[in-house]
Amino acid sequence: MDTYDVVIVGAGPGGLASAIKAKEMGLSYAVLEKGANIFQGIIDSYPSGKKIYPTIPKGQSEPYAVPELAPNNESVEAYVANMQSCVAKNKIEVQLGQDANNLIKQQKGFKVVTNQNEYECANVVLAFGRSLPADLGVYGDATHVRRRLDNTDQFIGKTCLVIGGGNSAADIVAALSKAKRTAEDGTTVFWAHRRGPFKVDQEVARDLGEEILLGGNIRILQEAVPRLGEVDENGIYRLLIGIHDIDVDNDLRFHEGLSFPMDNVIACVGTQGPAPVFEQMGLEQITADKIDGKPRKSGKAGPKLIVLKSGFQTSTAGIYAIGAAISPAYAFVGEDGTLQRQKHTDLIYTAISDGVQAIEHIAGRMP
Ligand SMILES: Cc1cc2nc3c(=O)[nH]c(=O)nc-3n(C[C@H](O)[C@H](O)[C@H](O)COP(=O)(O)OP(=O)(O)OC[C@H]3O[C@@H](n4cnc5c(N)ncnc54)[C@H](O)[C@@H]3O)c2cc1C
Repeated sequence: MDTYDVVIVGAGPGGLASAIKAKEMGLSYAVLEKGANIFQGIIDSYPSGKKIYPTIPKGQSEPYAVPELAPNNESVEAYVANMQSCVAKNKIEVQLGQDANNLIKQQKGFKVVTNQNEYECANVVLAFGRSLPADLGVYGDATHVRRRLDNTDQFIGKTCLVIGGGNSAADIVAALSKAKRTAEDGTTVFWAHRRGPFKVDQEVARDLGEEILLGGNIRILQEAVPRLGEVDENGIYRLLIGIHDIDVDNDLRFHEGLSFPMDNVIACVGTQGPAPVFEQMGLEQITADKIDGKPRKSGKAGPKLIVLKSGFQTSTAGIYAIGAAISPAYAFVGEDGTLQRQKHTDLIYTAISDGVQAIEHIAGRMP
């Protein structure tokens, strides 16, 4: 197995800036992107046609650290197309469809594990942004559950499950049902929400109601809780969802559930900041109240901030965190060990600048 000088997780502005700089400095690198495209985070989170502003944060006067990656008031579609040309022109290799889900510290360096592969490296740059899918909270492995609907055709002839109580889940239920109805496919679309009422806008509810009246085969499961991720005797990853629990006597509980192949499950349960991922990797984080020792007015500890040294290095030497993943603030630890809350604007400019600084730091530490 190749050992890279640096593995970069995420091909957004921060990840690509890191890759361009790594190549320029002669470091071997791999860029892992979980989506089907570079800039998948931006593609997924911006409304179509949105203009991208080349905003420079207050107090900064330097131009973009990698000028080719700067937006120019163009639409998101035009920006992504320009970035694709830039990647091709610079011959930057990006490994698409690689969802990094584990980072293992080895005797020397690290191993980054994705849904498809393993990558050994001396350093890791975490450039995975903020839009991480919320944890399903099941016992076992649920990483094979889908998080978006790419193509309705692949669900024809398959009983499927959509999890989530909001507009995105409702849209997917309606789209799947319509595709099945059009293809004269009698399989069911189950729609599960862990709470009772669903929270959808009027227009979404209207489209869904229309789909049901037109004969859509939709079955609603309220108060249904994803419980277990398991591999069955045929090697198929399955998700068990609990739909009914009855206490028979003090010790005995009757449990009713449904089990779906994870390939047929789409979970639209929102996104979370990266704090749980940093925690899983054992990276030090601290709540804002602990930095200055003053309790906050609200009495709450506040969100966890990742602790970073110069060059955006985390508490584990060789692991760096940059860009939106560390916005809107992080805890900077100086040479003398003092901690300071550092504001970090969530902008393309900032992510690019971070990526360049992290790679310069890595190059400076290489033997
Ligand atoms: C609606 C909206 C409008 C905005 N408008 C502007 C604007 O006009 N101008 C501006 O400067 N900024 C704007 N921003 C902010 C800007 O988009 C972010 O600051 C920037 O995208 C951060 O770059 P990044 O590389 O850190 O993260 P991202 O762009 O989020 O990239 C992270 C990448 O990592 C991938 N990834 C995530 N997890 C994994 C994993 N486990 N394995 C592999 N890959 C993974 C994601 O798919 C994604 O492609 C806007 C943000 C939003 C949400």
